[in-house]
Parts: sequence; C-alpha cells; structure tokens
Amino acid sequence: MAQKYTIAAMAMELMESLLVRKRATVLYPIERLEPPERFRGRLRYDPESCTLCGLCQRDCPADVIKVVRKRVEREDGTKELTGHLEFEMDRCLFCGQCAQSCRQGSITFTREFEHAQPTRDLFMMKSDSPELDEGDCDVDEDTVP
Ligand code: SF4
Ligand code: SF4
Repeated sequence: MAQKYTIAAMAMELMESLLVRKRATVLYPIERLEPPERFRGRLRYDPESCTLCGLCQRDCPADVIKVVRKRVEREDGTKELTGHLEFEMDRCLFCGQCAQSCRQGSITFTREFEHAQPTRDLFMMKSDSPELDEGDCDVDEDTVP
C-alpha cells in the first residue's frame, strides 16, 4: 500500500512539474527564436571591399572558396585586376576561418540559419564579375593556387 502511494505521489509530482516547468522548445516554424549575436549563419560576401588576395581560399579547410582573378590590360596600356569569388556552400563547415583570415572584412556571417535547398547547384554562390568588353583589352584569367 505504501509503495502504491509513493508511485502515485511521484506521478503527481511529475505531472505538476511538467505543467509548471518552462518549455525548453518552441513550436518551430510558427514560433522562432533569435540566434545569439555571434551565431554563424549564412555567409555574406562584400565584393566592393575584396582585394582578391586569396587568403580565404588558402585557409578554408573544406575547399569551399575559389578566387577567380582576371588581369586586364587595355589598349591604352592601363592594367586592372578584377574577378569574383565562388562559394560551394554545401561543403561549408561554418568554422569562421575565412572571415578571420580576410583582412578587408569582406566575409561576415549573418544569423540566417535556414539553408535547405532542393538541389545541390542552389548552394553555389558566385559574386558578380564586372562586365568586360574583351575586344578592347587582353584578359588573363587565373585562380589562386
Ligand atoms: S566558414 Fe569555414 S568552411 Fe565555410 S567557407 Fe569559411 S573557412 Fe570555409
Ligand atoms: S580574404 Fe577577403 S579580400 Fe582576400 S580574397 Fe578573400 S574575401 Fe577577398
């Protein structure tokens, strides 16, 4: 009898604690939590400040980043370095190394965490390269080794 009472009391206690206890989860996606300040979500790249130095590509442990450089020599003798970056984001570990390595602050992380895509090609991120009139100049394209 004493044991029955104990089990019933324990069950009551458990029920009470479940009813009173603060919920540890939310009804995602109806309810959403704000990720912490330093959360590493979707990567953001700023081509304006990028110098195409290639440090991010060199230091990325997952081989996500490809820096494509174009050396442009115009008929008037002026030279210019332009290009773009390509990111294969399905391989990204969100380790943050690229942002640490970049001296220009061109790579930062947003707090966006929903990355799912139906196909792999949608994970490819490519920054725009300036349009070049190649009839007017010589273009020598390479990638950072
Ligand atoms: S976060 Fe890490 S794995 Fe992802 S692109 Fe940057 S260095 Fe590479
Ligand atoms: S490290 Fe920064 S500046 Fe250098 S190529 Fe990468 S994004 Fe551009």
